[in-house]
Amino acid sequence: MNNKLENNENDNDNDNDIYNYSKIIKIKETLETGKFIESKIDMKLGEIILKVQSPMCFSFHKHLVKKICYNCFMNSNDTKNPKFNKYKVDNNKNYIIGCSGCSLIYFCSDECFEKVMSKESFQDSTSTHIHTPLECLILSVFRENQTKSPNINTLHDQTENRMIINYLSKIAYSNIGFEKFDSLVLEMNQLVGGFNQLSTKFFKKEEIENIKNKSYMLKRLFSKFFFQIGDGIIEELYAKSQRNSFGLWKNSDECFGLSMYGCQTNINNNNSNNNNEDGSNNKSIINKIDKKISVSFFNHSCFPNCVRVQENQSISFYTLIPIKKGDELTISYIDIRMSLTNRLIHLNECYYFECKCKRCTLPSSSTLSLEIENIIQNYICKNESIKCTGSLYLPPNNQTQRICNFCKWKESD
Ligand SMILES: [Zn+2]
Ligand SMILES: [Zn+2]
Ligand SMILES: [Zn+2]
Ligand SMILES: [Zn+2]
Repeated sequence: MNNKLENNENDNDNDNDIYNYSKIIKIKETLETGKFIESKIDMKLGEIILKVQSPMCFSFHKHLVKKICYNCFMNSNDTKNPKFNKYKVDNNKNYIIGCSGCSLIYFCSDECFEKVMSKESFQDSTSTHIHTPLECLILSVFRENQTKSPNINTLHDQTENRMIINYLSKIAYSNIGFEKFDSLVLEMNQLVGGFNQLSTKFFKKEEIENIKNKSYMLKRLFSKFFFQIGDGIIEELYAKSQRNSFGLWKNSDECFGLSMYGCQTNINNNNSNNNNEDGSNNKSIINKIDKKISVSFFNHSCFPNCVRVQENQSISFYTLIPIKKGDELTISYIDIRMSLTNRLIHLNECYYFECKCKRCTLPSSSTLSLEIENIIQNYICKNESIKCTGSLYLPPNNQTQRICNFCKWKESD
């Protein structure tokens, strides 16, 4: 075995290596597959790969905005929230502190309200959860059905529109000297996909038309408030949203919104030279983006070896099974319980690619294929009370009982 590269932070011997983030993973790139994450070591089950503290942009489904805190993502049905009882009103169980400007943003507590609405939050580089005055104005005049075509006005589309508004509203402030927002531009650039790259290869003609319509609508809306956005930028965002959006999930099998996450230093990389984690220096945060790994580098596999875990605003990735050095780290974009045919249809329709993962390509009667099915059977959620599409992983605080990433169902030992 070639162990020349072991523990060498600065190896650039291999042309495919773009960065070395840490001792455990590296980012590689090929022309056909784009960027992907490879393991540099053997990993055990329950290893944390990376964590991103908060999304670059997000939006909740409209019918749920009063039930979910815009800052901490706590939802009012979660009785474990200690703040819940204090702010519960009558039988509606709604949060009562909201933005009076747009009436679309609600909070679970004074603390969360102040964190997002105060002017100081513009300087607070640890939080990207900022409801800017521009977003407030846009949201208060935005009508969900401004587009002509009814087929681009689903619940997902409406939430996506507001997520893009959320992003553009923050970006507007980077033009006037709020450096913290500059980093969002760089993070967005890091994400895979884009309108120009994808338009001919991946998007159907109808989809391209939809993206153009939606982009035009937002461009016009923002220009009413004197924020002119260059041609193509919004199209780029919608295209990236197609490939990089994550559903936001409650502690059950219910999606409450949409988000895009960017980059984060690998949390296992405790390099003492980078002691600016507190964000005291905005400049250095921006410089650090290059050193970061984007969540969108996790490719899809119908036999994933990693899983995504949402905890309030943060998103983390854990290993689902032991991983060998040199293996690619993957997650599943879809419900892995689906049949081969359904998986292929779903991936093609929603993510515009033909799955070539081991599970989809191996002959179904082969020994390896049966082995793979057994491993999957072992890690899918066993909660019988709900139809859960989650997977069982080992959380860091409990190294003996696996829990489900969606419903938090716990395996009994
Ligand atoms: Zn809150
Ligand atoms: Zn508002
Ligand atoms: Zn597949
Ligand atoms: Zn579950």
